Amino acid sequence: MFVIYMDNAATTVTSPEVVDEMLKYFQILYANPSSSYEFAGESRKAVEHARKVIADTIHAKPEEIFFTSGGTESDNWALRSVAKACKGKGKHIITSKIEHHAILNTVKNLEDLGYRISYIDVDEKGVIKLQQLIDTIDRETILISIMTANNEVGMIQPVREIGKIAKKYGIIFHTDAVQYYGHLPMNVKELGIHMLSVSAHKFNGPKGIGFLYIDESLDKVPMILGGGQEKGMRSGTENVPSIVGMARAAEIAHENILKKAENLAKKRDYFIRRVLHEIPFTRLNGARNARLPGNLNFCFQFMSASELLAILDLEGICASSGSACSSGSSSPSHVLTAMGIEDEMAYSSVRFTISEENSYEDIDYVIEKLKIILKEKRKDNRIYRYYNGDN
Ligand SMILES: *Cc1c(COP(=O)(O)O)cnc(C)c1O
Repeated sequence: MFVIYMDNAATTVTSPEVVDEMLKYFQILYANPSSSYEFAGESRKAVEHARKVIADTIHAKPEEIFFTSGGTESDNWALRSVAKACKGKGKHIITSKIEHHAILNTVKNLEDLGYRISYIDVDEKGVIKLQQLIDTIDRETILISIMTANNEVGMIQPVREIGKIAKKYGIIFHTDAVQYYGHLPMNVKELGIHMLSVSAHKFNGPKGIGFLYIDESLDKVPMILGGGQEKGMRSGTENVPSIVGMARAAEIAHENILKKAENLAKKRDYFIRRVLHEIPFTRLNGARNARLPGNLNFCFQFMSASELLAILDLEGICASSGSACSSGSSSPSHVLTAMGIEDEMAYSSVRFTISEENSYEDIDYVIEKLKIILKEKRKDNRIYRYYNGDN
């Protein structure tokens, strides 16, 4: 099948090296790490090695890394754990309007359970308002959960500043780093992050595996009860092949991570420059700087995003309108809405998330297709015809 895949924020290809590494733990070293014979020692060693590899990538301790089924579970766990462990101190949680639904739907549930939730606004570029965050803190605030970088517009949030604020007021700081981790380096201790959610399939690891970093000083509440794996915090037989695969993907991702990010950002900027210069009535959603290296989010005025995506799909081009979870829904993206973008513009917005695998030729190909499609389809739009003088 001919495919130009530009939806890497939805998921990424699993690297062949990662699959290779995993195969051994399906077929040869398949013992349950909890078993007591020597053969199981190999599985245990593999899991603990993976924990160490991952801890090193964020400058944490291995004891602070807990394996989960992915970003959604890590987000659910982080919020519920703090909510339960700290409810004696207060029931106020601060998050933002641009979080992933793994956060938004969890805080909504906590709200039903009697917690008070504040949603911080973002500016027109998609960056959260720090002063509002400070002003929202009160004596009951137990948790700030703000994502490291947004999945739709790729805006990197002022995590360092949030970490400082959280420290000053003695509040726990959780960040959903699913889009950021593995693409740019991070040091949780330096940034003042107490909890961090990661998912392997967003950085060329397997699907259905991730981790939650929990600072050792925090009180924890288990996510899943059972046989006591993960120090009793997240029971269930360890997914050894996936854990090993995630660690391998993390290792690969962190080799020359800045150089790779720089190269990808160059491709992104080339893509942005050409689209804005060569396609009229087009805007970039979000700022050009402080943006994830692989993210582009354009508003093509006078064109419906769903129609554009359907035509691109026929051409083998995979892109998306915001998040994979909301692409089937009929309401505009909550992220674009929070940025003050009118519904009509939001409905015309398309996200491309590129990776190392995309060549400059791929980008050229997509741009040529975009030009042809938009030229043809926009003619159907009365207002477009008016602006172009051919009424
Ligand atoms: C993909 C994503 C998630 C969910 O991760 P899964 O591993 O797919 O459950 C959470 N947050 C953000 C920002 C994401 O992009």
